[in-house]
Amino acid sequence: MKTIILTLCQWLGLFSLAKILTARRPRILCYHGIAVEDEHLFSPGVFMQSSTFARRMALVAKWGYKPVSLDELYRQHHAGQYGKDTLVITIDDGWAAIEYGMLPALKKHNFPATLYLCTYFVVNQRPVFKLAVYYLFWKYKGPLTLSDSSCLKPYTTLQQLGINELLKLAAELGSAFEQPILQELADCFDEDLTNWQYTCKLMFLSPEKVTALAKQGLAIELHTHRHKFLKLDSAEMTKEIIDNQHVISQLTGKIAQHFCYPSGNHRPEQLHVLNNMELKTATTTENGLVNARSHPLTLPRLMDRDNISDLEFEAELCGVMTLLRELTSFFKRGRQ
Ligand SMILES: [Zn+2]
Repeated sequence: MKTIILTLCQWLGLFSLAKILTARRPRILCYHGIAVEDEHLFSPGVFMQSSTFARRMALVAKWGYKPVSLDELYRQHHAGQYGKDTLVITIDDGWAAIEYGMLPALKKHNFPATLYLCTYFVVNQRPVFKLAVYYLFWKYKGPLTLSDSSCLKPYTTLQQLGINELLKLAAELGSAFEQPILQELADCFDEDLTNWQYTCKLMFLSPEKVTALAKQGLAIELHTHRHKFLKLDSAEMTKEIIDNQHVISQLTGKIAQHFCYPSGNHRPEQLHVLNNMELKTATTTENGLVNARSHPLTLPRLMDRDNISDLEFEAELCGVMTLLRELTSFFKRGRQ
């Protein structure tokens, strides 16, 4: 149904009209990781096939958008007017497979891009625990049967653990247990974890790769050290950013000044922390185009996913969806 309505809108010229009406409203595209195997089926919002990403970049070029850096976006914001068809490409987290799954397409079109890097899993090179547990339970439909030599045996009377029981126990035992638990889970399901290291599956970039990608022109910016922010107090939030900034500066030689809220969520009082640290911009996961009134520390983005069609992607990028959402909320407010 959605496809029929969007095709009709496109046919009626509404896509072209929306693109003209929103030409001076920057688009900030949001990506995450690249699927090594079947992760795009597990979580299409986090993992995209490299072929999908390449196709999207070709469309951005074909439709005449002008990708710029976050520094340039900030400059345009302070100049009082955004450039025509300005677009920013952002990549969250630091998944290792972006090196071969995204960089070639970015280079092909000579597009600048920003990686919001969470530095904990760069420094600690192992699969991202919670996501890896969810992935393995999704793939093999659980539960985990504990062997006699299981490291969990002394801490539970259960013989089998479902995902919630396992994650609860893992949280109680602390991060030192994460890798042994993951190994047990992989052994139980006959999944080869060693191969994950080679293929970069559910792994973050190594420190050396971050340095190499920065040298190739990828801007490395802030996403907290441990992907934690929303529930922290001011001192903890500041520490997360300082730790993050410190590792990034060691790896790139640059002071990162652009921020992305982990999971996109933010509270108004967090802006003080970002202001105090003199950060220039911050992005959220609120869906929409930037406008002249957007606060530079709460910029909306357009979330691209592996399971949306090129037509839906175009509907978001041309601005027709943002205009429809804004129109709907305008009428809702009018009725209140
Ligand atoms: Zn993130």
